[in-house]
Amino acid sequence: MKIIFVTGWSMSWLWKWITSASVWKLIGSSGKRVWMIKMDPYLQVDAGTMSPYEHWEVFVTEDGAETDLDLGNYERFTGENFTTDSNITSGKVYLSVINKEREWEYLWKTVQIIPHITNEIKDNIIKVAKNYDVTIIEIGGTVWDIESQAFLEASRQMKKDIGKENILYLHVAPLLYLKYSWELKTKLIQHSVIKLREYGLQPDILVCRTEKHISKEIKNKISNFCDVDIDNVIEAVDAKSIYQVPELFKSQNLDKIIIKSLWLGTTWADLKKWNSLVNTIITPKKEVNIWIIWKYTEFEDTYKSISEALIHGWVANNAKVHLNWIHSEDLENWDFSDILQKERQQWKLDGILVPWGFWERWVEWKINAVRFARENMIPYLWICLWLQVAVIEYARNMCNLDKSNSTEFNKSTIHPVIDYMEEQKKIQNKWGTMRLGSYESKLEKDSLAYSLYGKENISERHRHRYEVNPKYHEILKENGLSLSGMSPDRKLVEFIEVADHPYFIATQAHPEFKSRLEDPHPLFVWLIKAALN
Ligand code: GLN
Repeated sequence: MKIIFVTGWSMSWLWKWITSASVWKLIGSSGKRVWMIKMDPYLQVDAGTMSPYEHWEVFVTEDGAETDLDLGNYERFTGENFTTDSNITSGKVYLSVINKEREWEYLWKTVQIIPHITNEIKDNIIKVAKNYDVTIIEIGGTVWDIESQAFLEASRQMKKDIGKENILYLHVAPLLYLKYSWELKTKLIQHSVIKLREYGLQPDILVCRTEKHISKEIKNKISNFCDVDIDNVIEAVDAKSIYQVPELFKSQNLDKIIIKSLWLGTTWADLKKWNSLVNTIITPKKEVNIWIIWKYTEFEDTYKSISEALIHGWVANNAKVHLNWIHSEDLENWDFSDILQKERQQWKLDGILVPWGFWERWVEWKINAVRFARENMIPYLWICLWLQVAVIEYARNMCNLDKSNSTEFNKSTIHPVIDYMEEQKKIQNKWGTMRLGSYESKLEKDSLAYSLYGKENISERHRHRYEVNPKYHEILKENGLSLSGMSPDRKLVEFIEVADHPYFIATQAHPEFKSRLEDPHPLFVWLIKAALN
């Protein structure tokens, strides 16, 4: 059992996750079983209740865990499917310790952060790490956070538990570039290493995030002040694409450093296939314009899996995807017929993607957008909530079911075409009503979905409460809406298509969670291809 801990002087620009995932890329494809864990110091048990305005995307694993978006980042780099055990939050750890205390597991002991919380963290790590040759563990937040302290302490204790030779500490910290004096300042790195030492942690490898290349002198200075071997001071300079980072590290021998330090005895990383895909991102042959109609505007990372899946589709089609982010709120005053009259080129509109959403405020305006795309044969891919909205639009405008709605938006609608399933209505526990994780669907043989997936039985990940109301399946079908993918028991609608629209597909699932650079998702590959056509 070998472990690499990744700590950081935090902020997302810092690439802590990119570093962790790139380290997997350097050692994970050489025959050793390498796994990943993200430790999140926040007090939530899982990320399901995080606000997309504050904490970006909630990622969903195959086994239905709602996790930090970093697990998605890891999956896209590694191609692995991680599970709930790969996300250890303070909430999960404290909840378990408190439950044990109530069960008298620590009877006559004083229950404390050290050793009870730290032991719980270590148990959670070992439960996973014992099954793999190497486990890469990213500690979320900064080395200054109060919440991170127990995780840092646990990582220090593990040196004793599993032996110094089986553990590596990799620290990511920024070099500050002062543009007026053209200087790179090393103080932030030094200070964050001093802070780490307070916890008894001495980094073995330092990844220095920087806008400018680092000179030998600066490396030397960092090496001296921070007591890290000069070869182990790695430059992480700005890149055009995050997918270039594994090569960036390999060119500085980070693969060799790790393989030798941990006595892994494997060959050096082979990134040939990976790098050839990355070249397509850097020098694409074609271009395409996709609109994303979004709700949560503060950070693009709220739709991280979607924008990455589009990049994977870009690679598969050798076509750069220009994303035009359109806030749902702005749709209010749009005259859609006017858009068509103007050159599509001028509007830079080749395809539309509408990602997921909850308690949507601007749903009525988006229904107009759905109609516009459906009637004008614009390629579009609707995800999760937007399958539901597409059904509402179809029911209203094609099935004469005026005022159709989802009970999520109008509890007393006369045509609840989208609703809770009967079984859900009895559930009291708030989490119990969510459909989470991987579910199977059966695709109709003559459908667009079948032609894209190339098989009848598929599975995709889900994260939603509402479903297309089974009472309306027949009337939708009679009026030309194809329910092209259903759950195996035929109760739940998974895909819809419109027969005379060659580019219309909506799915109740979140296909973006399964797309990877080396295995792009067929729906995203198709969207870009349809938009190019
Ligand atoms: N709000 C919808 C539901 O709960 C859809 C959620 C989503 O888009 N993920 O069913």
